[in-house]
Amino acid sequence: MSAGPLRLAAAQISQEFSQRVAFDAPMSKYTSWHAGGPADVFFTPRDVTDLASFLRQLPADAPTLWIGLGSNLLVRDGGVRGAVVCMNGTLGTLERVSETRIHAQAGVPCARLARQCVKWGLGPAEFFAGIPGTLGGALAMNAGAWDGETWRHVIEVDVLDRRGVRRTRPYSDYKISYRQVRGPSDEWFIGARLEFERKPGINDAAIRDLLERRKTTQPIGEWSCGSVFTNPPGEHAGRLIEKAGLKGFRIGDASVSEKHANFIINHGAARAADIEALILHVQRTVAEFHHIELTTEVRIVGDPA
Ligand SMILES: Cc1cc2nc3c(=O)[nH]c(=O)nc-3n(C[C@H](O)[C@H](O)[C@H](O)COP(=O)(O)OP(=O)(O)OC[C@H]3O[C@@H](n4cnc5c(N)ncnc54)[C@H](O)[C@@H]3O)c2cc1C
Repeated sequence: MSAGPLRLAAAQISQEFSQRVAFDAPMSKYTSWHAGGPADVFFTPRDVTDLASFLRQLPADAPTLWIGLGSNLLVRDGGVRGAVVCMNGTLGTLERVSETRIHAQAGVPCARLARQCVKWGLGPAEFFAGIPGTLGGALAMNAGAWDGETWRHVIEVDVLDRRGVRRTRPYSDYKISYRQVRGPSDEWFIGARLEFERKPGINDAAIRDLLERRKTTQPIGEWSCGSVFTNPPGEHAGRLIEKAGLKGFRIGDASVSEKHANFIINHGAARAADIEALILHVQRTVAEFHHIELTTEVRIVGDPA
């Protein structure tokens, strides 16, 4: 067995932060699947300066995982070594900077961004309304729905690196594709300038319609991470899974949704290991049945129990 990173201990966190970080924080509290073991250190910064100081005082070899609302994350039952930096409930500035441009910090929930753009008469940002994450997560994932995609609107992003150094990077520093963003490593998003079009007549009905459409097709309200797999070219992962007869297939307290086969539901007591075993089972079965390899959209992190 190879030795993974060592635990980040309380004594390694500077006094300035030791009262404000949670140690051994259960990640099941911070993920929409409500599963996953403890993070050594869990930190929610007050602002960007606070975050930069926190990163600077971390031991150079301590891994960091940045999260938003944990709506696309499977954290294994053994938890996360190092520090988790959480954007939920912080870095929430959202402002209009010109006729068609906005600036948003990484902690802004996508739903708020959608509603505010409608108020400003800007669009198309309505698609953000049904994505239950933060802008930071949407930037990392190139989140999208109903023909809308996050990076189509990005002009530039603000990032912070391991040493707490802040930079602004243009769109052209990244390679963007479907649910994939490749850019410089060891830095994370703290905000972005986004461009939309003027939509003078737009109102909340546009958002309500999209949310209604979701409710009829997806198991909204149940514990999930949305679509588990990306759609293979020209196909729908959900349709492939359904045709392979996997709707309702269960491991432990996790099952393939009856309503939308690309969703896996935690019915209350599923461990991350059950969910991961179910993901593997779906991949194997779809490969046997359709000769198509499904790729996970959800990010799987942490150590096994
Ligand atoms: C019911 C439901 C419906 C969904 N529908 C959609 C949909 O229609 N379209 C869609 O695209 N997704 C959908 N999702 C998935 C999810 O909401 C998106 O992927 C979302 O963008 C994740 O944002 P988050 O803040 O929760 O990120 P997290 O889940 O916390 O993190 C996701 C990834 O982003 C990284 N990350 C997070 N914040 C940062 C940051 N600031 N800087 C760098 N990296 C960061 C994390 O390390 C991780 O790798 C759905 C999920 C659910 C539960």
